[in-house]
Amino acid sequence: MIPAAFAYQRAKSVDEAARALGQTGDVKVLAGGQSLIPLMRLRLAQPTTIVDINPLASDLGYIRRDNGTLRVGALTRHFQIQQSDEVKRSLPLLAEIANEVGDEQVRSMGTIGGVLAHADPAGDYGTLALMLDATITTNRRSLAARDFFKGLFTTALASDELIVEISFPAVSGPHKYIKFRRRLYDWAVVAAGAQKMEDGGWRVGITNAAPTSVRASGVEQALASGASAADAAKRASQGLDPTSDLRGSAEYKRHLAEVLTQRALEGAQ
Ligand SMILES: Cc1cc2nc3c(=O)[nH]c(=O)nc-3n(C[C@H](O)[C@H](O)[C@H](O)COP(=O)(O)OP(=O)(O)OC[C@H]3O[C@@H](n4cnc5c(N)ncnc54)[C@H](O)[C@@H]3O)c2cc1C
Repeated sequence: MIPAAFAYQRAKSVDEAARALGQTGDVKVLAGGQSLIPLMRLRLAQPTTIVDINPLASDLGYIRRDNGTLRVGALTRHFQIQQSDEVKRSLPLLAEIANEVGDEQVRSMGTIGGVLAHADPAGDYGTLALMLDATITTNRRSLAARDFFKGLFTTALASDELIVEISFPAVSGPHKYIKFRRRLYDWAVVAAGAQKMEDGGWRVGITNAAPTSVRASGVEQALASGASAADAAKRASQGLDPTSDLRGSAEYKRHLAEVLTQRALEGAQ
């Protein structure tokens, strides 16, 4: 379908984009367009104005190591994260996850900021952001990932706020992200991630088994108390709230969360 009519503005700066977002009407940022444009074509989204931030690629598309922190600009595309030597050195789990996002076309255009702002529970980066206590910086403030995701497709972003950067702690120990999906390149039915930290503890997260990604604190605590991966993974379904749909029943998704968590922990390298 053809989207409903909308006004189009090319942003020349972050401030200008934020001012445009503050205009009356339903004003939306356009980043990679991989979620927004399909929604507009289905007329599930009918913004009155689109503010295109792609002209800000040199300001918002970057990957930098800053002491113990990996800083990623919001407009950094999935393929840039996937291929970045800095990401592979500083946070290889992020490169592994980028490698698993959609197909090549999606990875060529889609951005990390777009995934987080869209807040699809099947979005892969949200899980890592929660697991690692990432910081999401907007044009106004810095938010911990746990305060950013509010629910299904819902974040703490105000209508005139845009994400400018996501910063993760650099950590390169054993890690694994496993997506269970029906077809190659598909979204996760459920996914699980595991990362061993410098202090020897584990961080674990689950994708697409609740209205937002979930940090599997019960699993982390069990591992810290000396439980085996198999025993700790039995706690992976705690705090989940999966829905039954064409991809599987809620019960099946809880089972997947446990199985994938065990495999992520045992397969972490
Ligand atoms: C076929 C297909 C398969 C996919 N598979 C996966 C997958 O397996 N895993 C996965 O994680 N994703 C997947 N995606 C989604 C993809 O990663 C998109 O890139 C992502 O959801 C949105 O990013 P975008 O840059 O395209 O944002 P857009 O589509 O441009 O925007 C999405 C929303 O976020 C807002 N937004 C964008 N950037 C910002 C910003 N900086 N600040 C504030 N608001 C912003 C927009 O206003 C809009 O509301 C898939 C998409 C498709 C089409």
